[in-house]
Amino acid sequence: MKVKTIIAGNWKMNTGAKEAGELVEELLANIKTGAYGPAVVLAPPFPFLADTVQRLAAATKGRQQWMVAAQNCHQEEHGAFTGEVSAPMLKSLGVQACIVGHSERRQYFGETDTAVAKKVSALLRHGLMPIYCCGERLDERQSGRHREVVAQQITTALGNLTPGELARVVVAYEPVWAIGTGVTATPQQAREMHAFIRAELRRIAPGVADQVPILYGGSCKPDNAAGLFAGEDINGGLIGGAALSADSFAALVRIAQEAKSTA
Ligand code: PEP
Repeated sequence: MKVKTIIAGNWKMNTGAKEAGELVEELLANIKTGAYGPAVVLAPPFPFLADTVQRLAAATKGRQQWMVAAQNCHQEEHGAFTGEVSAPMLKSLGVQACIVGHSERRQYFGETDTAVAKKVSALLRHGLMPIYCCGERLDERQSGRHREVVAQQITTALGNLTPGELARVVVAYEPVWAIGTGVTATPQQAREMHAFIRAELRRIAPGVADQVPILYGGSCKPDNAAGLFAGEDINGGLIGGAALSADSFAALVRIAQEAKSTA
């Protein structure tokens, strides 16, 4: 089975209400992707999720492949967790996916692999698609521990999933040293780690591991994406900075489409 190609844009804590709406409209005007093209996932900040869902719904023709994702969620369903947002709340808005385990959440908000594992389960329970981020820090790569670190992250967050659950997950390999730094992994480094992640997923659920999309994230831009997306186990990208420009993001969707149609 061919793995789905996905280009996901993580807007992080950027844009205001007006700008967010304009960006969605520009993306809708610029991105042409049909049933066989890459899926497009937009992850705006929480306050703009509902508006983004509505704008996409209003532009349904040829947009079946478009999804809205949140950038985080809480693992519990409801209760005394001031400031948090749960998976069923996202579901009730029409949000279909959610990024979890982003390195910025791990670094600035102390999220552990165990907490992230609970978030993955909560999302699956409520029918949302988790986009699970993993990746090593610079010191871990320099000391040759990158495989060990990523294997540990994957085992803790995804190791207990059933095959049916794993089949609904998207993994994003995001080396921390490449996020927002302008330094990207070389195609060789990315290919090697994606093949390693695929092998880890096969250990968990051999029957479905080959259909799990593994996205690359970390300073991915139109001028370096072709080499990255050409990699066999690189099924698209999780894009930060370049997702804030409709031109760059649309170019990335085109590059992914070309890379995968010639693969
Ligand atoms: C990200 O935040 O997930 C990301 C990949 O950011 P950037 O593309 O800016 O490195």
